[in-house]
Amino acid sequence: MRLSQYFLPTLKETPAEAQIVSHRLMLRAGMIRQSSAGIYSWLPLGFRVLKRIEQIVREEEDAAGCQEVLMPTIQPAELWRASGRYDDYGAEMLRIKDRHDRDMLYGPTNEEQITEIFKAYIRSYKHLPKLLYHIQWKFRDEVRPRFGVMRGREFLMKDAYSFDLDYAGAERSYRKFFVAYLRTFARMGLKAIPMQADSGPIGGDMSHEFQILAETGESKVFCDKAFLNFDPLQSDIDYDGNLKPLVDRWTGLYAAADEKHDPAKCPVKGDQLLEARGIEVGHIFYFGTKYSAPLGANVDGPDGKSTTVHMGSYGIGVSRLTGAIIEASHDDAGIIWPESVAPFRVGLINLKTGDAKTDALCADVYAKLRQKKVEVLYDDRDERAGAKFADMDLIGLPWQVIVGPRGAAVEKVEVKNRRTGERAEMSVDQALTKVAG
Ligand code: ATP
Ligand code: MG
Repeated sequence: MRLSQYFLPTLKETPAEAQIVSHRLMLRAGMIRQSSAGIYSWLPLGFRVLKRIEQIVREEEDAAGCQEVLMPTIQPAELWRASGRYDDYGAEMLRIKDRHDRDMLYGPTNEEQITEIFKAYIRSYKHLPKLLYHIQWKFRDEVRPRFGVMRGREFLMKDAYSFDLDYAGAERSYRKFFVAYLRTFARMGLKAIPMQADSGPIGGDMSHEFQILAETGESKVFCDKAFLNFDPLQSDIDYDGNLKPLVDRWTGLYAAADEKHDPAKCPVKGDQLLEARGIEVGHIFYFGTKYSAPLGANVDGPDGKSTTVHMGSYGIGVSRLTGAIIEASHDDAGIIWPESVAPFRVGLINLKTGDAKTDALCADVYAKLRQKKVEVLYDDRDERAGAKFADMDLIGLPWQVIVGPRGAAVEKVEVKNRRTGERAEMSVDQALTKVAG
């Protein structure tokens, strides 16, 4: 993509309305535009990142044996009346009437909808477990939408649902998501720590929030420093095997958000306890028959008797992750994208547009990168070098290839790594090898 043709409305000034760094940087990098409070349009650069995050989430859900569906954003109120949540949900739910005066709503979540689908088709334990997910926009009329996409009113969520015959089955499904989440966040370059969360009236310990550590997190969190050495991507996962030892390893270490942390009872002492702030990027939750019972989702068990299925739900804040990744990965100059979610892998900077040799070398590098299927944003604008460097640092592509007249004369380019700041001059071939990965 040539930057001269790309729709990238970067801002030099810091927008006054943004309180946290990710919101400021997303606005300055031309990723999003506010439509109304907590509701955003995604501009080309932001949309590319959102899609890449979504794709990682999708791949890891698929790997865990979860199947993708797509449910609507607008749901009929009667489903929610059946579960008893229509009145309980309160002001966060956006209620709508259609032209026939029927009550509808913009879904804040999909437990009822997925249970209705399950119930319509699945009648026997032989078809269990079933794990289904979708990636769809949600609406919650949050009291205080803030921090840009981190707490929006309209936001993109991956929500998955599990259906099992009994508690033991639900536990196996829960562990699949637990492990898939560790991998999902690690692939985005994040350290996500599972923390025991409130499980409501059902009780039990099958509720975890996944928090990533960042200074601007909404909640204060405490955890064992040993977490920082865990790497969820080390080994391949057999999702049909026994995941208990792996999950136990993670849940065996202390981690708690503020509400749950009791210094008197905390088993981690002194220096080993990490005190930080966290951003909740995911939540997994077993809730038994809370929805399957009122909605009548039953199957025939092995003994021929009808039994109510056990369910869990598993959310990931896809649009929130865009901001959360920036909170965890930036410097004074701008965003530093992890390679896995970067909107482009390489930024090619032409330091002197109009200079024949420089233009030719840039064209050569650009063509070769495209041939290798390396995603590249080529700054071919007629701008000062300083402005080009600033924009490229701001948008945070992992690699920069810088071409100026002095280098062009000897067929050399400079390669800069955005994260480390390391720069080195090299031949075009060497540069291609370095940035192609
Ligand atoms: P929170 O406590 O942050 O309001 P929640 O408990 O309401 O979150 P869930 O219903 O579990 O959230 O939703 C699953 C995930 O969706 C959350 O872990 C979070 O990452 C994301 N999410 C929830 N609310 C919002 C929002 N208003 N804007 C963006 N993402 C959100
Ligand atoms: Mg909420």
